[in-house]
Parts: sequence; structure tokens; C-alpha cells
Amino acid sequence: MNDITPDNTALWQTLENTVKHTVVTYGYQELRFPLVEKTELFARSIGEVTDIVEKEMYTFEDRNGDSLTLRPEGTAGCVRACIENGLLHNQSQRLWYIGPMFRHERPQKGRYRQFHQVGVEAFGMQGPDIDAELIIMSARIWKRLGLNDLELQINSLGSAESRQAYRNVLVDYFSSHHAQLDEDSQRRLHSNPLRILDSKNPDMQQLIENAPRLHDHLDQECVEHFHALQSLLNTLGIAYRVNQRLVRGLDYYNKTVFEWITTQLGAQGTVCAGGRYDGLVEQLGGKPVPAAGFALGLERLIELVRDKLQPDVAPHAYLVIASDAAMAPGLQISESLREQMPGLRLLVHCGGGSFKSQFKRADKSGAGVALILGDDELANNTISVKYLREEKPQQTFGQDELKNFLQALI
Ligand code: ATP
Ligand code: MG
Repeated sequence: MNDITPDNTALWQTLENTVKHTVVTYGYQELRFPLVEKTELFARSIGEVTDIVEKEMYTFEDRNGDSLTLRPEGTAGCVRACIENGLLHNQSQRLWYIGPMFRHERPQKGRYRQFHQVGVEAFGMQGPDIDAELIIMSARIWKRLGLNDLELQINSLGSAESRQAYRNVLVDYFSSHHAQLDEDSQRRLHSNPLRILDSKNPDMQQLIENAPRLHDHLDQECVEHFHALQSLLNTLGIAYRVNQRLVRGLDYYNKTVFEWITTQLGAQGTVCAGGRYDGLVEQLGGKPVPAAGFALGLERLIELVRDKLQPDVAPHAYLVIASDAAMAPGLQISESLREQMPGLRLLVHCGGGSFKSQFKRADKSGAGVALILGDDELANNTISVKYLREEKPQQTFGQDELKNFLQALI
């Protein structure tokens, strides 16, 4: 679980704002819901035999003896909130949220125990058009972040029924190669055989490669849905790769699933993942409502955009208070400047100290110029400007001139 220190928060804010502004322009509205939910919510939605529920959740009993869990992902809480607040009755919803998620994983680069996601969920739309919109919108986010080498992988997991049929075939196949299964896969063979396909164990790859393919077991409707999605992506010029091995680590997905992947982050290369989950609302007690969404991992994106986004947060100016008498007028002048120029980043020196030490602070602040208010300036109703980053002679301005000068800096 990481601290995000002030030298990094500007980058985080720029990333967050870019994502937020983009999804808002597609008509998505923010939903806020708790960090803590009843444990059974996650067990029922994510699936009892998934990694998350089996071994990654932060679960505890509260003082009433209720079992609660820090949310490991957002979709379950989002769906619960929608049902409880009646947001899904005879209406479609486009929603987004942002915040920390908690999973007790083995920490490594790109994998943390508290991490942050932006989640996007769309309810009440069953066609491939909304799948396409979600993908197009994520592509728009990459474009605005200056990321141009992410690969889109898509797959169809089919309907619950076709998956059941496929599951039986898969269990037969893996059972007949039982000796080649690693420990995890043997455990999953009867509880969650599709997850074996997701194994990262190199020794298992050949076996997985030769396994029967889900696409040979998809029903007609799912095939048509998947083709229609591909046709929309083709029309929009969104490049993608169909990856038949793409299964998600959460049980609620059906039909379309997708991931955006980079090769720049090593093993933790998925920066965004999502898909349809048409059965989940009903499974959690609502009327059946088709749904689709995705979540993007902000820690991984931060690494990708670190060199591309350079948020400018240094002060434009640093006011040096060059005499005790300048303290009150200094604060007054600063407020008047802020009143007139809301975009002005002005740092006023506080805490006294010599002229020299104040200049050191001014320099360290990153400000472009130091404004100096001392006895001479007070007597003449002026302010002096010393350039901190350029070889230019010091200048002295009247109040109106100063305003024009600062306006030009902004
Ligand atoms: P992975 O295969 O990397 O474990 P996942 O399938 O568990 O990912 P999701 O639950 O779909 O991931 O979460 C969506 C995104 O959130 C991921 O693609 C990733 O960018 C990010 N993410 C997931 N787990 C972590 C984590 N422990 N630390 C940082 N980011 C994470
Ligand atoms: Mg995971």
C-alpha cells in the first residue's frame, strides 16, 4: 500500500482528470459507493473459487459480528448500489467511479495491495454497440494521454449455457492429461476449469494451447454479437486481436471480454480490462438487466504516462517579504492579484528570514520570478521583479504594470 507523495500527485491528478473529463463527455455520470461491503456480496458476484475471493480479500468481522470486506473491485458494489437506489428500473445508466481497491496479492511492480481504478459501467443496453462504445471510449482516453502502443485483445466467453457445455468438454480434456496439471490447475479442474486457460505457468502452455476452443462451442447469438462488435471496431478503425485464451479472473463475465495491454510494464501489462456481465444484476437480486463495463488500473497507467504528461504546477511567482513592514501589505497585494487573476499560482513567503534565505526558498519553489516587496517598494507603491530562470536585469513595476506582467506569465 503506497503513499503518493506531493512530487507525484500532480501527475496523478492530470491522469485522473483526463480520464474523468473523457468519460463525462460520453455521458457517464459519477457514482460513489462505500469502500466496505458485506463479504457475501463479493463471494456471490466475483465467484467463490476465484483467486480474489479465495485468497486476496481483506475480510474482517465488525463489532456486530458481520463479515465485511474491503472492496477488491468496483463492479459488485456499483451493481449493489444501483439495485438499492432503484437506478436500473426502465432506464439505462452510464456510470463511472474512481478510488482505491484492496487485494492481498504478492506485491511486485504494477501489483499492489491498495491500488486505484477508474471503473466504467453501462446498464440496460444489450447490443454490441455499447461494447464498442466502451472500447472506443478507452481508446479515446489513450489518445488524450498520448499512449499509442497499447494492444487491444478481445474475446467472447459466450452465454452461461454455452460455457457450461464447453466446461464439460474442458474437464474431459484436462482430466485425460491429469498428470501434466500443476497444483493450482488440479484444484481448479472441477471448481473453475476455464481459469486453467489463464494459467501463467510456462510448463502448462503447451497443454493449454492444445485444449478445445471455446469458440467452437459458442451459440449462434453470441457468435453474431461478437461478429457485430468486430465489424463496428473495423468501421471505427480500432485495431484489435482476437485472443481465444483471454478469460477474465472474475466469474461474472459473459460474451465480450477485452483487455488493453502494453509490453512496457513487464508481466503486469494489462492496464484496462472489462467486458459484459449480463447475469450479474439478477444474480445480486435485481431484475435482469444487461450490463458491460471496464476498469483501468491507475498505478500501471501512471508508469506509462510519467514521461509524457508534464503537469506544470510550479508557482508563477514567489513573493519575497523584504522587511517586517511588508508583511501585511504583501498579503494584501497578493490577495488583490488573486482576485483579478484566478489562474495565478503565487507563493507568498511566510516565516521570516533573511533576504538570502528567502531567495533560496523562491528558487527551490520552482517559480519563474521572485516578486520583491521591501521598504523602497512600499515607499514608492511598486514591486520589483527578479528573474529566477533567465539572465535578465531586475525590473520595478507599478501595481497595474505588475498585473499585466503576471498576466503574460500565466
Ligand atoms: P491481473 O491479471 O493483472 O491480476 P486482474 O484481472 O486481476 O488483473 P481486474 O480485476 O480486471 O484485474 O482489474 C482491472 C485492472 O486493474 C487491471 O487490468 C490492472 O490494470 C489493475 N489491477 C488489478 N489488480 C491490481 C493490483 N493488485 N495492483 C495494481 N493494479 C491492479
Ligand atoms: Mg489479478
